[in-house]
Order: sequence, then C-alpha cells, then structure tokens
Amino acid sequence: RIGTAALAVQVVGSNWPKPHYTLLVTGLCRFQILQLLKEKPYPVAEVEQLDRLEQFTNQHKSEEELGELSEQFYKYAVQLVEMLDMSVPAVAKLRRLLDNLPREALPDILTSIIRTSNQEKLQILDAVRLEERFKMTIPLLVRQIEGLKLLQKTRKPKQDDDKRVVAIRPNRRINHIPSTTEDEEEEEDHDDVVMLEKKIRTSSMSEQALKVCLKEIKRLKKMPQSMPEYALTRNYLELMVELPWNKSTKDRLEIRAARILLDNDHYAMEKLKKRVLEYLAVRQLKNNLKGPILCFVGPPGVGKTSVGRSIAKTLGREFHRIALGGVCDQSDIRGHRRTYVGSMPGRIINGLKTVGVNNPVFLLDEVDKLGKSLQGDPAAALLEVLDPEQNHSFTDHYLNVAFDLSQVLFIATANTTATIPPALLDRMEIIQVPGYTQEEKIEIAHRHLIPKQLEQHGLTPQQIQIPQVTTLDIITRYTREAGVRSLDRKLGAICRAVAVKVAEGQHKETKPDRAEVGEGEDCKEHVTEDAKPESISDTADLALPPEMPILIDFHALKDILGPPMYEMEVSERLSQPGVAIGLAWTPLGGEIMFVEASRMDGEGQLTLTGQLGDVMKESAHLAISWLRSNAKRYQLTNASGSFDLLDNTDIHLHFPAGAVTKDGPSAGVTIVTCLASLFSGRLVCSDVAMTGEITLRGLVLPVGGIKDKVLAAHRAGLKRIIIPQRNEKDLEEIAVNVRQDLTFVMASCLDEVLNAAFDGGFAVKPRVDRLNSKL
Ligand code: ADP
Repeated sequence: RIGTAALAVQVVGSNWPKPHYTLLVTGLCRFQILQLLKEKPYPVAEVEQLDRLEQFTNQHKSEEELGELSEQFYKYAVQLVEMLDMSVPAVAKLRRLLDNLPREALPDILTSIIRTSNQEKLQILDAVRLEERFKMTIPLLVRQIEGLKLLQKTRKPKQDDDKRVVAIRPNRRINHIPSTTEDEEEEEDHDDVVMLEKKIRTSSMSEQALKVCLKEIKRLKKMPQSMPEYALTRNYLELMVELPWNKSTKDRLEIRAARILLDNDHYAMEKLKKRVLEYLAVRQLKNNLKGPILCFVGPPGVGKTSVGRSIAKTLGREFHRIALGGVCDQSDIRGHRRTYVGSMPGRIINGLKTVGVNNPVFLLDEVDKLGKSLQGDPAAALLEVLDPEQNHSFTDHYLNVAFDLSQVLFIATANTTATIPPALLDRMEIIQVPGYTQEEKIEIAHRHLIPKQLEQHGLTPQQIQIPQVTTLDIITRYTREAGVRSLDRKLGAICRAVAVKVAEGQHKETKPDRAEVGEGEDCKEHVTEDAKPESISDTADLALPPEMPILIDFHALKDILGPPMYEMEVSERLSQPGVAIGLAWTPLGGEIMFVEASRMDGEGQLTLTGQLGDVMKESAHLAISWLRSNAKRYQLTNASGSFDLLDNTDIHLHFPAGAVTKDGPSAGVTIVTCLASLFSGRLVCSDVAMTGEITLRGLVLPVGGIKDKVLAAHRAGLKRIIIPQRNEKDLEEIAVNVRQDLTFVMASCLDEVLNAAFDGGFAVKPRVDRLNSKL
C-alpha cells in the first residue's frame, strides 16, 4: 500500500491513429494509503507522507548514521558512471549529479538508470527506510558493473575490426535509461532507421529529394518514438524510398504486333483502333512524344477501359486505372500537405507507388465526372499532371519535391465531353467510341464475352451451347444499352445456371462410385439424399445427367433470366393521336423518347413536364408558335374548330421517364409532329422516329449524336428515321447492315418532316389559301 506522489510535467500524444500518450512526471515523495475514500471514477484516498519530511532537518543525523553505507554506495555509483563514455553529455551530467545531489536521493535516481526489472524498481520504491534502500540498491549496482565489465571484455577482441560499434553500443544502452524489453524494441527501431537511411542513400531519387530525405532522417533520429510526427516522418521516408524514381520498364513496341493484339482483343471499333495505332506508330518513330492525351468518349461498356489495357499490353507497360468519378477535392490528385494529420499522397503518386515503375499507362477513368468543391478544383490539378510542359516536375503536396511524370502515358475516358472542364478538354484529343449495333454485339458476345464467361465459370463449349438467335434474344429482350456490359452480366447469369446443372450431373456420375467404396452408413446417407429431390421434382431431369452440351434456347432463357424485360411496345403506345417518337442522345448512348401531348379547356397555357431543361422548353414554345402560324395551312383546329389553336385550350406536353433530366434542341421536330397529330387527330406512323432542331421559320437544323440515335432506333425495331438534311454525312459512319434495315428521310423543313411522319403525308391543302384570301 505504498505509492509515489508525482507531479505530471508533460503529457504528449494523440488519439490518432490510435490513442497513445506519454506522461512525463517528477517524483515527489513516498506515501502510504490510510484509507481508500472512493475508487471511481478515479481513486481518492487519505494518505500519509513517508519520506522527505525531515529531509532537511535530519540530514546530518542520517548522514552520520548511514555514513558507511552511503559512502559505499557513492563509490559504486561513481565506478559505474565512469565506465560509461564520458564524452556523452548526459553521462557527464550524471557524474556531476552524483557529487551535487544529497546522498539520500541517489538510490532512487540510479535505480531508474540502471538495467533492472520493473519488479526490482518497485521494490526500491517500496523501501521506505533509507538504510534499506541503500542496501537493496548496492547489489543492483554491482550487478550492472559486472555486466558491463563482461561486455567490454567480450567485445574487446573485435575492437579492431568493428571499433566504432563497440564504442557506441554499450554506452548508448545506458544513456537511454534502458529496461529489458523496451531496450530491445528500441534497438530494433534504431536498426530500422539505419536501414532506412541506407536505403535512402542507395536509392536513385533526385538530388533535391535526397537532400530533403536526409534532412528528415536526421530529424527522425532525434525524435522520440512516441511523438505522432515520428510515424508520419517515417511513412514519408518509406514512400520516398519506394517510389520508382528511376525504374522503368522497357517499351517493346512493334506496330504489327500491336495491330494483331488490338484486333484479337476487340471486335469492331475500327475507327478507335486505327487512331490508337497511329498514336502508337508516332510513338515508335519519335520517342518522348509530347502529343495530346487520348480521351475515349462513349457510353459505358463499349470497351474504353479495355482498349486502354490493351495499349499497355502492346507497349509492355504496367497499367493502372485511376477512377476520377466523384473526385471533388484537389488533394485527391495532388496530395495533402504533411502538416495535416492523416495526410497522404495524391492518386497519381500512389499509383506510381503501386505499379513500381515510372512509365506506366495511367487510365484516368471518367474525367467527365470530376466534381468541384470548396477544397479546390481537381481539374486544375489534373491540368498540371497532363501538361507535357509542366509534368516533368509535378509536385505532390505530400512529397513536396518534384517527381517526373513525363514518362507516364495518360489515357482518359469519359461518357460525354459536355461536362469535361474546357481547359482539360483542350489538352486532350477526343476519340468518340459509339455504341454497338446488334450484329456487332452478337459477334462480340460470341468471340469474346462467352469464351471469357465460360472460362470464369469453369465450363467448356462441350457443356454449354448458346446459339446466335439466343444471343440476339438477350440483346433485344433483356438488355437495352449501347455497350455490352449488361449483356456480359446476363451471359454470366446463364453460365452460373448451367454450372449448377453441370455440377449436379457430375455429382450424380460420381455418386455410384462413392457408394461402392463408402462404408455402410455413409452409403445410406447418400441414398436418402438422392431419393429426396427425385421424389419432389421431375425425375427424368435429375435421374440422368443433363445431355451435353446444354442448349440455351428461348425457354431456357426464360427460366434463367425471367420473363423478357423489354418488349416491342412501340406500336401500342402510338395508338392515339398526340404521341410521337423522338431520338435522344444521353451519355449512356442513344435512346428513343416518346413525346405525348394532350389538350383541354383552358386559357391558352402550355404545361411542360418530364424534367426539361431550358433549351427543351424553348423548343416547345417554338413548335407551338410555328403550328399556330401555320394552322390554317394545315387545317389544324382546336377542340371548338377554331384555327387559333390556343383559344380556350390548354396544352400539356409530357416527356416520359420523368425522373431523367432532358435538354437540348433536337426534340424540336418531334414536338411539332406530336402537336400536329394532336390538332389534326391523325396518328403518327408507329415505326417512325425523328430528330432535329427547328427554327421559327420551319427549317430543320442539324443535331449531334446521329449514330447513337440511329442505333437506338434500330434496337427498338423502328423502320423509318427522319433526320435533318445536313446530317446526311453522319450516316456514312453507320454499319451497312443497319442502314439496310432502315429508311432514312432527310428533311430540311418541317413540311417534309410532317409528310414523312404521317401515313399518306401531311399535305398542305391548297384550298386553305384560297379560302383564306376570300376571308
Ligand atoms: P467502358 O470502359 O467503356 O465502360 P469496358 O472497357 O469496361 O467498358 O468494357 C466492358 C466489357 O466489355 C469488357 O469486359 C470488355 O472486354 C468488353 N468489350 C467491350 N467492347 C468490346 C469489343 N469491341 N470487343 C471485345 N470485348 C469488348
């Protein structure tokens, strides 16, 4: 029940990464607990002070009494300290303390310095009487002296070859107030730091980086480990050593091999492959290309990432993908300054550390989805990374020294160029990767996706057969996408289902063997297991292993994937006047879009719903104005037969899929057609889709994304497409087989659009003009 009162002098530590505190205290005196008053939340007790009370008054007496004992102790203490290296300031100070301090204080101080177990130290603290304390400490001192003598003896012969180590090591041990286990740990840590320094010196980092690292390691050596900064600095130095300052893979580029590899890995996408080969060819001829950064733009699942990976493969370089979607803090790119707790390098430096070479292919995925926030603009940071004029000395905030990124090959991908910051867009060469046609998808599925899925599921072509018609069914009835990602997933689902069947079949084949070999009881178990499913379900199906290969026909498809998700609903929806099909472009590819209109009694209001952008709303107003001004020409009337279409009439226009924001001028012609149908009471042809911007004068202007839109119409099974005259050139990009399935109507004015959209045309009635003049 004896304790030591102490004064807390300093508290150092932090709660991060885990709570770790170091307390520095000065011992005051010993005390004895008389009565424990309470234990929680912290103990409170009545205590009695045990020593240092009469320290000053009784000093002489005690010295006289203990004269011999204290003299003996003093001698040993001096002997011990003198065995240490006096050139170390701490040792010299200790020597001086021995003479200056009152003798009673010495046992406590020396016990804290010499090598003893905690148990022994506590015993000394428990010893209240000074005499007892002296007596207990002397053997410890003697033991330490003997130990040191032995150590010096054993190390002496080696002194010649390893002089410095012997001279420093034993002293260092004693300087550092050692205790058994801690000492070893500390030693290990010290060794680590020495190793780290060695690594830094032998690494090939730039001169500037080396200078910084050496400075940091010097600080590290002086730092107590308990300081949070210790771990921080160490992590930093370890990263610096790990970075591939000078390490690179050798480019092995041969255009012919690259062409073969690209062709083998990817079906179709000729334009993209051609451009990539050009890019690689220029690289081959002129090393250190400071050309633009390639940026693949297209809907998801069209193989942008996959081509990036192939480029790395052809060049024999490492590949690393950096996902930028949702990144809105520039520190994500450029790192956090090391002053922050939890600071770390940016994704670029991290990527380099991961790949371990300084010339990888970095795929900056989804540059169009970079965000912006109060923490700075990540796009601006990316500019520095991508600019060949600047990126040879890219400075990450965490590293705080320049790193040469000029050897890195950057490729970017995006779904749309619209949201890529202009400055970034300026540095990139955009290569459009449009969606695939159904035929292309079938080929991709059979050449690449199915073999890949079979391999992933451990199946062989002898076990499963997916005919082309089934693939077409999956494409048209179970997916509606520009790329092939969901097709790939559906094929995966089929393979999983087949894998179960195949495994079941194998189980059955092996079962009789096992039953023969197995013991009686085991055997019975198998039999009962077997009997159960057979009695429940189709016996024929389970009794025999399924016939190989398992053929996936439409019925199997329905069993595995459920009822078809997309049916040809187009004609159904066009069974009333006031509906037309438009073609829209979205970052996910082209889509067909229904436009619905209805009229009711009212005051000439136009209501628009379906989350429309400003441009779309303006298109609707334009369409109404044009129809109103041409109402007589086309014999369009409101419900009460008046040519003033908005007289006592409200119009409501709706663009379904209300949750998706829509904008852009290309719905103009569709709105006109839809309203013309509403006011004339005639049905729009059910197999026609259209796109085009309109003007107030009734002209049709060209729009973008024609290829994606045409593919969407083709996917939806439409037959006739009305596009602006000036978009005719875009049709060349479309595969011949798609073009053959469709009829294109080139329209330069709204008259032509309406004529093509309605069965039998939407001709102007010449009578109307005459009638008009009569009036
Ligand atoms: P993206 O990056 O454009 O979203 P991915 O590159 O991830 O798409 O492609 C999705 C999957 O489709 C990949 O498994 C890829 O191999 C496959 N794929 C896409 N296009 C093709 C193609 N033309 N030939 C072969 N496989 C393709």
